[in-house]
Amino acid sequence: MDTKRKRTSVIHSLGKGHSLNKGHSLTKEYGFTKEQLYHNVSFIKERQKNIETQHYTNIPSYTNNKNNHPNYDIIVIGGGIQGAGVLQAAQAAGYTSLALEKSAWAAGTSSKSSKLIHGGLRYLQSGEFSLVKESLQERSLLLKNAPGLVHHNWFHIPVYRHSRYRPWKIWVGLTLYWLLSGCRKEARFKIVSKKKWGELKGLKTENLIKVFKYCDAQTDDVKLTESVIQSAISLGAEVRCPATLISATQIKGGYKVSYEEGSVKQTAICRFLVNAGGPWINQVAEVVSPQPNTIPIELVQGAHLVLDKKINDECFYLESPEDGRAVFVLPWHEGSLIGTTETAFDGNPENSKTTDKEREYLLNILNTYFPDYTGTVSAEMAGLRVLPQNNDKENFHQISREVQLITDEKQLPHYLGIYGGKLTGYRATAQKVVKIIEKTLCRRDQRISTKDLLLKEIL
Ligand SMILES: Cc1cc2nc3c(=O)[nH]c(=O)nc-3n(C[C@H](O)[C@H](O)[C@H](O)COP(=O)(O)OP(=O)(O)OC[C@H]3O[C@@H](n4cnc5c(N)ncnc54)[C@H](O)[C@@H]3O)c2cc1C
Repeated sequence: MDTKRKRTSVIHSLGKGHSLNKGHSLTKEYGFTKEQLYHNVSFIKERQKNIETQHYTNIPSYTNNKNNHPNYDIIVIGGGIQGAGVLQAAQAAGYTSLALEKSAWAAGTSSKSSKLIHGGLRYLQSGEFSLVKESLQERSLLLKNAPGLVHHNWFHIPVYRHSRYRPWKIWVGLTLYWLLSGCRKEARFKIVSKKKWGELKGLKTENLIKVFKYCDAQTDDVKLTESVIQSAISLGAEVRCPATLISATQIKGGYKVSYEEGSVKQTAICRFLVNAGGPWINQVAEVVSPQPNTIPIELVQGAHLVLDKKINDECFYLESPEDGRAVFVLPWHEGSLIGTTETAFDGNPENSKTTDKEREYLLNILNTYFPDYTGTVSAEMAGLRVLPQNNDKENFHQISREVQLITDEKQLPHYLGIYGGKLTGYRATAQKVVKIIEKTLCRRDQRISTKDLLLKEIL
């Protein structure tokens, strides 16, 4: 491509990328804040400077972009926390990006989590130390960068005469958790003295022998996802929602992506395609041609019940009497949240729904530990974990929760699928994705480090 055409192409994407796209739901719903406008203006200035100094030497020659379809470095499919994280990290790293979400931001698993920003005390049992350490680091960052969205809370672990986990084991686990956090004060733990057990409103004290409490964090998963999306927009990202991917066809140096926005078919070009489809990931991969590498997955449902009366302002980490699994009781708005379960799921992710067995399982835990609770179930939610396929349908909790990043090829990939991962670790995952993208698209001048991006609650 000659210089003149290259400039035109960049200016074209600049103009498209940074107009306040009235069609998409975020801007319509929330409008742009002063801060976003500031980001956009400074981004445009920076971009203009780059055009003048010819920084964009690696803008591809899209041989079949004769129709002048909008082009991006990266298109992300899926507006859950992982898609939002990649969009934000890609923009922060200096790329241009577009995200497509078929229903609403965080409509999938990202609105059905336990809403914990945590290292995952439970994962110490399965020896996932690096996952716990990374998640604890991310928790610290989120507590610093998103104070309106992520807050500390105490988690109580009651130990009874017949509990499977003995007090010494819990003490070892909590000490390790604290060490892996870098001995931070937010990972400290204590033993609750017997005279204070009465403050744990309604908790069964018969046969209770010890209560530990440790510090972890809670969030609102939907608000967190929306805030990351908004942060990406403020860095110049484009978003379409609702917009469903129809097909992505490999072309020279990238993909031609077709999607449906409302009933209108749209086309865009990208150099790198990121599949953040959550439980739909392999369905999304099916419409990419040639078919990229995928891995066989297990969808494992986790259900929560929303209870209309608050049990406590603090949290409980309980052992299910049925199978010894860890289940949380958490304050949630005016009520409480209890979850979660692990149930093999087969079918369309759209249809995941709390089963009678799951409801019974969770209510049994509630009745065991809070026998005098008088509230009722006001809502239910069921989310799907994406785990690598496993033949043991009974012990899903033993399968690793580490994210897996699968690319179309090792050297110069143009496609990447994000399998699994945690809400807590979305930023760290997105940074790993950007590192892989850099192999193909080369490094750009970083706009800002994601470690420094503040996240605000969207009101
Ligand atoms: C029960 C449960 C509890 C959990 N609790 C926690 C917790 O407390 N803390 C924690 O850190 N992690 C937790 N997790 C993990 C975490 O919630 C998930 O890993 C995370 O939300 C997954 O996000 P995602 O973006 O990959 O998927 P999703 O949130 O499912 O996003 C995928 C998106 O892709 C969209 N999509 C699909 N197909 C298309 C298409 N063709 N075109 C456009 N868009 C498409 C979907 O609409 C969806 O919005 C929990 C998970 C579960 C299941």
